[in-house]
Amino acid sequence: MNAEDTWCSRNHPEYNHRPIAYFSTEFGLHETLPIYAGGLGILSGDHLKGASDLGLPLVAVGFLYTHGYFSQHITEDGWQEAHYLRLKFEDLPILPILGSDDEPLTVSVELPGREVQARLWEIHVGRVRLYLLDSDVEGNSVADRELTARLYSSDLDSRISQEIILGIGGVRALRILGYNPSVFHLNEGHSAFLNLERAKEMIASGHTFEEANEQICDSSIFTTHTPVPAGNDEFPEWLIEKYFSNLLPDLELDREQFFNLGRNPHPWGNTFSMPILAFQMSRYRNGVSELHGQVARDMWHHLWPDVRVDDVPITHITNGVHSGSWLARRMRNLLDEYLGKNWMESLDENQVWEAVENIPDGELWEVRRHLKRKLAHYMRERARDQWLNDSVHPVQVVASGVLLDPYALTIGFARRFATYKRANLILRDLGRLLDLINRPNMPVQIIFAGKSHPADEPGKMLIQEVYRIVKKAENGGRLVFLEDYDMNLARYLLQGVDVWLNTPRRPHEASGTSGMKAAMNGVINFSVLDGWWREGYNGSNGWAIGRDVDYDNPNQQDEEDAISLYDILENQIIPLYYKKRSSDGLPGEWISMMKESIRTLSPQFSMRRMVKEYVEQLYIKALQAESIKTISTIE
Ligand SMILES: *Cc1c(COP(=O)(O)O)cnc(C)c1O
Repeated sequence: MNAEDTWCSRNHPEYNHRPIAYFSTEFGLHETLPIYAGGLGILSGDHLKGASDLGLPLVAVGFLYTHGYFSQHITEDGWQEAHYLRLKFEDLPILPILGSDDEPLTVSVELPGREVQARLWEIHVGRVRLYLLDSDVEGNSVADRELTARLYSSDLDSRISQEIILGIGGVRALRILGYNPSVFHLNEGHSAFLNLERAKEMIASGHTFEEANEQICDSSIFTTHTPVPAGNDEFPEWLIEKYFSNLLPDLELDREQFFNLGRNPHPWGNTFSMPILAFQMSRYRNGVSELHGQVARDMWHHLWPDVRVDDVPITHITNGVHSGSWLARRMRNLLDEYLGKNWMESLDENQVWEAVENIPDGELWEVRRHLKRKLAHYMRERARDQWLNDSVHPVQVVASGVLLDPYALTIGFARRFATYKRANLILRDLGRLLDLINRPNMPVQIIFAGKSHPADEPGKMLIQEVYRIVKKAENGGRLVFLEDYDMNLARYLLQGVDVWLNTPRRPHEASGTSGMKAAMNGVINFSVLDGWWREGYNGSNGWAIGRDVDYDNPNQQDEEDAISLYDILENQIIPLYYKKRSSDGLPGEWISMMKESIRTLSPQFSMRRMVKEYVEQLYIKALQAESIKTISTIE
């Protein structure tokens, strides 16, 4: 933490003074702080940790949700119940920020007919500071105190109010705390109102809107994370009018000009789109994998109608994961022994990982067996707690994994239950699946886990469909659903299974990151060629479901993908896992594939590689553009 000699100080001393401001609605740092819903939050959390490791001066802004994300309970009939508990702030690794009068420091934002205050909390993520806004402040109305209570409200008024607090309140918070960031990085469009606050500041100091806009563009980076409509917020124009008509004079814009900043034309009328506001006010824009870059250029082509699709100015930087957070301790000890001292300082370099080949098969396999036992033990403990505390039906205890054999081939499928992720693809031909998992001497176990957004009815029905099959006696207790997927359960699962399954309907999975975490722990990926896996798969470090093509007909796609999945499972995965070498009884070919996977994927999909790319491809350009501006303003 105190080292002065960091990657950033050695390579980019120009960053030393003015930080990069990073905005996100969610941050997944640790399971004790449930202020994340899923992949987007984990990525933000890992980004901060990666920035800290590299010594990058970054300061982040988000929310302290007083009720956090919900914990999930599954009823006997497979229906998801959402439980919200108020967080006990005094138990959390957060610090209140106090003003000179020892009272909580607050920022205020204007909402229709009132001012709303938000207080500030601070988290130290290594060297990086994360500031969290919280509207549960005395003086706010009861309803306003609830504005930051939960993630992603479905109510439009609360949603837009949240985003105003994040964007506008967030910039004000940085100013009060004395920050003058050189670059603003918007992680998803939710924080895009920050551009309006920055414009207002510059206009107040004598610039025109055009000048302000240009300067904001030059110093802004926008990362889009999904092509799925639910992840791309838009608001009706009347709602925007209600919240922003007061701001127009300050921005020197009329209504039409203002709407144009975020206008999304639909056949049924115009909306105001947060990603469009972010795209139009950032010069640097990216998707989160190569394929997602293409998909984003196609999807947002209408914003640049005069250029060819391939020339739409959206690039890509493929996601990564923070190795220090996701590697099992035993695996890390093993790598410490074989990769050489300080390997974590250069874990994004391919040659560091060549030494994986030197790990004796027996030692690696012993660590894998340990991690599998740990998972089995954890599942039994959870089942016991459930049995003691709740009135659960015995069949639910079986469904939570008590009958699993720690050493049998185990497949993990854990992710948000949204329909495009197709949790039910592997259940499509149930007869064939049951035949495959119940073979004597070659049992296969599948563990499902994941939450649905509480307002996503089709997603909750998908959980129910899976749960009903999990409860069937014919599967011999080998299909399991674990409730309440969070970072803690994620660690057990993606360290303790053998195969990590991912079956999104391509090209909807912009990147995905859980498979990267699994890979470095010796778990082998078995996935559709979408998102990161399309770049990671090399023919010998895992298995690919389906072909590297796009489909017009989703039904045909589901059918072909399901057949490919069953064929590979039957003819490749199961025989490989159970094929023991006669000399030492170890599954030698499985272990070589595992080594190939660890060796090739760990450096490429590390957060260290990712943050360096953000610095060298995007932040640096924004910084240079910004410093030229600063100099010319001084002149
Ligand atoms: C890594 C992670 C995710 C994101 O995983 P995907 O591969 O994008 O599905 C979601 N939730 C948790 C708890 C995670 O750890």
